[in-house]
Amino acid sequence: MINVNSLVKDFGNHRVINGIDATVSPGEVVVLIGASGSGKSTFLRCLNGLEALTSGEILIDSVPLERNSKNLKQIRRQVGMVFQQFNLFPHLTVLENIIEAPVHVLNRPKSHAIKDAQELLSKVGLFDKQNCYPGTLSGGQGQRVAIARALAMHPKIMLFDEPTSALDPELVGEVLTVMKQLAEDGMTMVVVTHEMGFAKEVADRVIFIDEGRIVEEGSPTQIFGNPQETRTQTFLGRLS
Ligand code: ATP
Ligand code: MG
Repeated sequence: MINVNSLVKDFGNHRVINGIDATVSPGEVVVLIGASGSGKSTFLRCLNGLEALTSGEILIDSVPLERNSKNLKQIRRQVGMVFQQFNLFPHLTVLENIIEAPVHVLNRPKSHAIKDAQELLSKVGLFDKQNCYPGTLSGGQGQRVAIARALAMHPKIMLFDEPTSALDPELVGEVLTVMKQLAEDGMTMVVVTHEMGFAKEVADRVIFIDEGRIVEEGSPTQIFGNPQETRTQTFLGRLS
């Protein structure tokens, strides 16, 4: 589903992604871990076509993600992204936020988009909030709306960049529960998170990134229970 070959990304003369090869299979949940500044967000932004690659290639279902190609928009629609800051439109209701892109980007009939949005809101437990404005929601509710909004484009892949880091601790669980449900429904997911409990429970594979390279990857049991590389051990050691 996703193939990354020899990916390099520089910002000026700073090499942030330093030769990453990775594959994500359909239905797989991959959790990326690594220290601040190791390149996790940049990697996700490359996967979503938000960054021009310095070299290497990314294929989504065998189609190269090329910044200048006409199909970039098309491919990007297949990749949903949820950020730490969920950036809902404040002047639109929850429902209007969710139908915005399906109606204006995909040209779906409004009635269909509304029905779909309501189903997604039920899924994330917020059907009764559809006519509320984002400013009246808790952080956890806002993030669940952001997930529903990304899902409304019916992406093949969902990328999450620290979706719970900005939330009060008591609100983290409700967002992780929605993500776990999504994983159980078979969504292909790449998740950057510091929630090691989530990684242990939900990830099929954990990738540890340091200085723009994959240092070690494996099952959660392997990575958390028996890390092979010193840098992985040091990183995990700092967390506990
Ligand atoms: P964190 O855990 O703090 O979110 P991260 O692993 O997501 O860190 P990135 O945000 O990918 O790290 O950043 C990796 C490096 O690239 C950092 O040194 C950062 O300063 C640099 N960087 C990221 N975006 C840009 C940019 N647009 N221009 C210049 N440098 C950037
Ligand atoms: Mg980041």
